[in-house]
Amino acid sequence: MNHLPRLARCGLMLAVTALLSACASQAVTPPQGSRAAAIDVPAIQRPDGETPQWWFRNGAAQAVQASAQANARGQKAKNVIVFLGDGMSIPTIAAAHVYAGQRKGVDGESYRLSFEQFPFSALSRTYETDQQTPDSAGTMTAIMTGVKTRGGFIGVSQVPRRQDCAASKGQELVTTLELAAAAGMSTGAITTTRITHATPAATYGHLPERNWEVDAELTPEAKAQGCKDFAAQLVDFPAIDGLTVAMGGGRTEFMPAGETDPEYANKVGQRLDGRDLIAEWRAKHPGGAYVWNDKQLKALDLAHTPRLLGLFEPSHMNFEHERAKDKAGEPSLAEMTASAIEVLKQNPNGFFLMVEGGRIDHALHAGNAYRALDETAAFADAVSAALAHTDPADTLIVVTADHSHTMTFAGYPKRGNGILDVVKGHTDSYDEEGGAGMARDAAGKPYTTLGFANGPGYTGASNRQPEGSKRYPHNPSEYEHISKGRPDLSKVDTTDPDYMQESIVPLKAETHGGEDVAVFANGPGAQAFHGEIEQNAIFHVIVQHSPLIRAELCKLGSCNADGVPVDRPAYQAWLKQVNTPAVKQ
Ligand SMILES: [Zn+2]
Repeated sequence: MNHLPRLARCGLMLAVTALLSACASQAVTPPQGSRAAAIDVPAIQRPDGETPQWWFRNGAAQAVQASAQANARGQKAKNVIVFLGDGMSIPTIAAAHVYAGQRKGVDGESYRLSFEQFPFSALSRTYETDQQTPDSAGTMTAIMTGVKTRGGFIGVSQVPRRQDCAASKGQELVTTLELAAAAGMSTGAITTTRITHATPAATYGHLPERNWEVDAELTPEAKAQGCKDFAAQLVDFPAIDGLTVAMGGGRTEFMPAGETDPEYANKVGQRLDGRDLIAEWRAKHPGGAYVWNDKQLKALDLAHTPRLLGLFEPSHMNFEHERAKDKAGEPSLAEMTASAIEVLKQNPNGFFLMVEGGRIDHALHAGNAYRALDETAAFADAVSAALAHTDPADTLIVVTADHSHTMTFAGYPKRGNGILDVVKGHTDSYDEEGGAGMARDAAGKPYTTLGFANGPGYTGASNRQPEGSKRYPHNPSEYEHISKGRPDLSKVDTTDPDYMQESIVPLKAETHGGEDVAVFANGPGAQAFHGEIEQNAIFHVIVQHSPLIRAELCKLGSCNADGVPVDRPAYQAWLKQVNTPAVKQ
């Protein structure tokens, strides 16, 4: 692409520290047993000079450098699992480990969640090409394709405008899951949200609008221009084998309009095109198993189930807190993870699996810390399940988040203070009303350790709600303890699962945050995760350490002389490749 001599380009370079690997002064140590050299990245004016190809090459360069610095080059992962905690900010992880430890009756502050015990970690910078604080669509696209893009976009580059179906054609970005499928590996995506929601959709789908989950949501123009909803894209997946495993919610998006849901008599299918995607999936995969409740999943002989589709709720699955009360019964994220791996590991070529803890984000948007921490603990249990069902010698596990949130972990609570409690500090702040050690604000009122910068937990009066502390779900009839200014929390049980922490700015839904999120990694290639990386570099670290996925990229003409994928692969070329019988396994 760029044929300027390397030194000339270094002279033109802007002071973009992440890209200095191209300059002689930043030459990386030649890695053991590998001759991979630093990747030149053209100097550009940012953000105007950013292109999909530039993002791809930039991510490749970061990954090569990080891998060489850590002497990780040459490490090979047979299997790759990406765990995505949606909205799982660093304060959420910190509060969740205190929560999980205290729930077990051990010291919470020092308790480590499964993935916090991984040997390698990095920080991931999450901005999108058009948003300082990102959404889940563009961020997961960056992780899955190596290219940053706009908010709201799934598997499509930044080039078209949002909802411009025609302009999105040719701008599709090939995903890790697609490459793995083409390479003859097994593939899976599982989530607690609808399987068509932004994060899982970014593993297999391509649309310039994340909300086009079912055909009823597409504009007539988009339909006429040939865009297809995510539910249909999942079932029509063009690679030979399609997704080996897909599990989550979103059942009614696969059912024709008018058809009654098997679990809820008052829920019906949403498809206007008349397609019964569940029936189509079953016809396409006669040996496969379709399940829609926990009992059916548990009855399967997973080691002999070649393919699995599980749709456990009409929309999102329940929060872990409500799961036991589900009518038909639904599996936990850990159970889905273990089941998926049992199906996927039958393939001697290995597998790629994405597991999303999708409702951490929903609880945070609702301003409800309890469910966010509970979902994070369930997510950590799913990582434990993956560790128990795989071999760290051949399986790379990457745990990260797409973006942050506004939840804060603050005040000076004493060691061992309940994480959902009001701040209780030293005994010299003793309060005669019985709240021993409660810390007080400037007006003499207690406050909680966890709080939000914005969201529905705003306790002041607004034009929508009276003053007072709030409960989840947001219900104006439940307002209690109405007072002037902040509510008096000495009379409120802030540890109640339905308590909503206070927020400063009243918003119907709390927002995402713009700071870095964490990456934790274990297995071959994991040590390449260190320092602070751009989110799209995660894809490159993964593909550079997964021989079959990397070979697939090289077949698409993406690789340089060292076999490093540096050029953005064309989606149409990938499509052609997977449909050419010669490359089929
Ligand atoms: Zn969100």
